[in-house]
Amino acid sequence: MSQHFDLIAIGGGSGGLAVAEKAAQFGLRVAIVEASKLGGTCVNAGCVPKKVMWYAANLAAAVADAPDFGVNAHSDGLDWGKLIAGRNRYIANINDYWDGYAQRLGISLIQGYGRFVDAHTIAVGEEQYTADHIVIATGGRPIVPRLPGAEFGISSDGFFALEERPRRVAIIGGGYIGVELAGVLRAFGTEITMVALEDRVLWLFDPLISETLAENMHAEGIQTHLEFEVSKLEKDADGLLALVASDGQRLSGFDQVIWAVGRAANTRDLNLEAAGVEVQPNGIIPTDAFQNTNVPGVYALGDITGRDPLTPVAVAAGRRLAERLFKDKPDLKLDYENIPTVVFAHPPIGKVGLTEPEARERYGDTLTIYETSFTPMRYALNAHGPKTAMKLVCTGPEEKVVGIHLIGDGVDEMLQGFAVALKMGATKADLDNTVAIHPCSAEELVTLKVPVRTPGDH
Ligand SMILES: Cc1cc2nc3c(=O)[nH]c(=O)nc-3n(C[C@H](O)[C@H](O)[C@H](O)COP(=O)(O)OP(=O)(O)OC[C@H]3O[C@@H](n4cnc5c(N)ncnc54)[C@H](O)[C@@H]3O)c2cc1C
Repeated sequence: MSQHFDLIAIGGGSGGLAVAEKAAQFGLRVAIVEASKLGGTCVNAGCVPKKVMWYAANLAAAVADAPDFGVNAHSDGLDWGKLIAGRNRYIANINDYWDGYAQRLGISLIQGYGRFVDAHTIAVGEEQYTADHIVIATGGRPIVPRLPGAEFGISSDGFFALEERPRRVAIIGGGYIGVELAGVLRAFGTEITMVALEDRVLWLFDPLISETLAENMHAEGIQTHLEFEVSKLEKDADGLLALVASDGQRLSGFDQVIWAVGRAANTRDLNLEAAGVEVQPNGIIPTDAFQNTNVPGVYALGDITGRDPLTPVAVAAGRRLAERLFKDKPDLKLDYENIPTVVFAHPPIGKVGLTEPEARERYGDTLTIYETSFTPMRYALNAHGPKTAMKLVCTGPEEKVVGIHLIGDGVDEMLQGFAVALKMGATKADLDNTVAIHPCSAEELVTLKVPVRTPGDH
């Protein structure tokens, strides 16, 4: 059998669904080839299950804080099974929604692994399908390094499949996934040790954020070992796991070890050579600003392109690509500058624009930096509470805001609006001219007075 489509998306995750949905809405013949469930990483093993668990962790923390406010709540602990069952039902509903919606849009769902036969033909099992336009949106998978004993550890996929809450966990990796899983498990009472190769957690974030996060994690009882290079995992006689570092350090007694050391691109089995599509040694498919690969009619978007691996980025790129191809908008493309991002730590972290070191590199000695750090009112009656910290990175005499960095309760919701302002070119004076909302943490961002560093200061 051979079937022809206007567009085939390989991968039914955030990016593939977005481009297919738009193209189908425009009345084109569209197919999605998906090896697993519609929704991809975000729905099945990423944003969605993570965020449900983050909410549960926040509730657990709120119950613990409630008595100090006179609210006689108490917790009998966590019913992990109930949480996971509820979370999985929620995800199944989203899968069903996408199945039904795709059908209603007339999208053909082809179940299985797609691989190229040539630049316009995809094989799935024994069948072949042709299309004028083929979009590669196959995303990535967690990396488990090839080290002795690595198989004793699990990845984020394994974390979401856990049937019981682990008691003592080592998390390898101080990037955003490691930080998020650490926060969730800690809030449920699990002992956490985090090890990272770098000299700080969230090393790509602004130093103020890394430092405040480290303080908050320490206060929560999360142990961190930085510049720790894991050389092997071992299973001890008691069945518990140990990490061994290249300098001989050994950390033991874990019932789970989670690898959170990055993700690899899903290009291996696509047979890209058959289509002549260029691919980097790490599996990333390079594209130009319009999501074009080096082969006309073949496009790539989402995590597979190695750029800003976030769901809304894949979705936005997919929608724009469909409009460019089928709505006669030849110049339409996604602007990858100033993409806001949130880490769902406890408390959360948000950033948009340049960190202070990045801004110094780009703008030299023109920066004015505003910072604040405080314990928010949410903890007014608690003996302790995690710290909130905020930084504005501004450049030039007009103090144009080029970076906003936040950690603290509520910043996950706060950031979106401030990202609009930054994207529109807001200056510090624009923020100052905005009347504050009181009392809340967000008001600090429009009432920052004295810079901590000015041009010539560093
Ligand atoms: C733990 C975790 C938490 C995350 N949290 C967030 C968050 O809070 N916010 C956020 O914005 N992003 C988050 N992300 C990132 C987000 O999930 C990804 O950026 C997003 O899913 C990328 O979309 P995509 O379309 O590129 O790929 P994916 O969503 O990964 O979809 C790719 C699809 O392709 C399929 N596939 C692969 N190869 C083939 C093949 N040969 N044939 C057919 N099908 C194939 C896969 O089965 C998959 O369904 C998180 C990721 C992880 C792992």
